[in-house]
Amino acid sequence: MQVGIVYSKDYLEHNTGMHPENAGRLRAIMKGLSDAGLIDLLHPVKPVHASDEQLQLVHTSGHIRIVKDFSSKGIALDGDTLTSIRSYEVALLAAGGVLSAVDAVMDGMDSVFALVRPPGHHAEPDRSMGFCLFNNVAIAARYAQQRGLGKVLIVDWDVHHGNGTQKAFYDDRSVLYFSIHQYPHFPGTGRVDEIGVGKGRGYTVNVPLPRGANDADYLYVFNKVLLPAARTFRPDIILVSAGVDGHRYDPLAGMDLTSAGFGQMTGVVRSLAEELCGGKLVLALEGGYDYGALSDSVVMIFRALLGEIDYDTEIGDGTGMGGVSDHTRLQVENVIHLHSGGKIL
Ligand SMILES: [Zn+2]
Repeated sequence: MQVGIVYSKDYLEHNTGMHPENAGRLRAIMKGLSDAGLIDLLHPVKPVHASDEQLQLVHTSGHIRIVKDFSSKGIALDGDTLTSIRSYEVALLAAGGVLSAVDAVMDGMDSVFALVRPPGHHAEPDRSMGFCLFNNVAIAARYAQQRGLGKVLIVDWDVHHGNGTQKAFYDDRSVLYFSIHQYPHFPGTGRVDEIGVGKGRGYTVNVPLPRGANDADYLYVFNKVLLPAARTFRPDIILVSAGVDGHRYDPLAGMDLTSAGFGQMTGVVRSLAEELCGGKLVLALEGGYDYGALSDSVVMIFRALLGEIDYDTEIGDGTGMGGVSDHTRLQVENVIHLHSGGKIL
């Protein structure tokens, strides 16, 4: 297995001080990977700076100008979303890092995990929010299409709903957006009946779950919703908004996932990528705010990418892992009901 890692010390230069989304997150991850002896097993993929044209695959020119202007003065974009003098440049490198990851898997690497910051999935075409300046994964989806991959599946398992990504592709049937997230919770979007509009109707799949959902609940949803949807859609590449703030120790959310659970979810998408799109799989870091949980989870994700964790998509439906809640079972029925007769489920 050729597994790539995108990282640059420049990602530490988006200076947010004591904000939960800070440079210490990536330092903790790199130390964790080093302590686990994984660094030598991973292929470094050098990030590039996304160009203005590439940002405009998703974002308006007005938005790009505002991020550049506010960053040059170190002014916050909103109450949650800070900038410092180098933030614009680092944000270009974050978006570009995911583009480099797409290039690497298109050139034959099996999978790449882009350890970038600032994160991206809350950034909408015309505004930054929720710690996110530009939508790294959404830009990468459009870039992959520009490079000839027609259909893109985005799996968003960050604990928050990716409002920005949903908005970018809400009326588009060439990008299937699947999100599992805590609800109600920030940013307030991601209701189960948000399924897309126009030609994109049916190509947004939201599975909101209440706080407390665990590994078994997530794997059950993956097996009952994500797998059939992905098999119907038949993507040419899979991108993952791989936040790990659904971890039980995360301070900003209330889910009950474990580090091993993130490894298992990675195993599912890796198997899916092998089955459906020649293995082309790119993950990009989104949230995750407890240093220990963050670095342990990223280690498990890389172990799964390296094939050190076996996962069979047919048998691992989560039922043997401490129980799937009745609420999760009902919500899965609800999702399938809302999509029935649609294109995907
Ligand atoms: Zn998050």
